[in-house]
Amino acid sequence: MSLLRVDKICRQFGGLAANTDVCFTLEEGEILGLIGPNGAGKSTLFSIIAGALDPTSGEVWFQGKNLTGLDAATCCAAGIGRTFQVVRSFDSLTVLENVTVGAYNRTKSTKAAKKLAEETLEWTGLAHRADRLAVELTPPEKRRLEVARALATQPKLLLLDEVMTGLTPTEAQAGVELVRTIRKRGITVLMVEHVMEIVMPLVDRAVVLNFGKVLTEGKPTEVIKNPDVIKAYLGD
Ligand code: ADP
Ligand code: MG
Repeated sequence: MSLLRVDKICRQFGGLAANTDVCFTLEEGEILGLIGPNGAGKSTLFSIIAGALDPTSGEVWFQGKNLTGLDAATCCAAGIGRTFQVVRSFDSLTVLENVTVGAYNRTKSTKAAKKLAEETLEWTGLAHRADRLAVELTPPEKRRLEVARALATQPKLLLLDEVMTGLTPTEAQAGVELVRTIRKRGITVLMVEHVMEIVMPLVDRAVVLNFGKVLTEGKPTEVIKNPDVIKAYLGD
């Protein structure tokens, strides 16, 4: 049984088809890249998987359960954590408080939530910034905070939406290392990322979306050689 199965997902926004018949599976322990040009429907699909948006049709199965149409809190409790493309940290809270907000999704005890948040900051490399306000962080630290907050919900599956966008190559490399650490801790990763040089060496498999549809999927080395993928990216 796959950890996640996305089955014929369609999502309309008025007359616009953001997702059309999207199907793929994700196995436990995998890092799967979801790639495709701007507007291809990647963030829409993330919101559907995370329960923030209902599909027009189709189903989302997670650990053998049909999660279609369930709300974000229920999907989070089931083990799906996510980041947002636009950073959503609380500027006026400290780093620790931000991550504690995530941890509250897993435990309702204040003490346990704080402990879980501290542990999460430790292994995500943000412990030395715990008492800083989120607003004081550098851009790569803000991205890391977003990831840490999602991790504090203790997900089995983590959805990362363009967490490396805007980072320098060195900062992005540190991000790549964090994703590897996340996988080593037994968390399955589905990630949207634009920079091919970053995402392709990292992922086990890639699914390519274009105009809301799956264009192709496969090993990164095969996918980047696919003429349709090259065409979609060059906007031929
Ligand atoms: P990507 O993340 O691949 O860049 P999105 O999923 O954000 O793509 O968007 C896919 C398409 O759906 C785009 O044309 C976008 O304008 C449209 N879209 C996304 N969200 C909404 C919304 N809430 N209302 C209307 N159109 C939307
Ligand atoms: Mg997007």
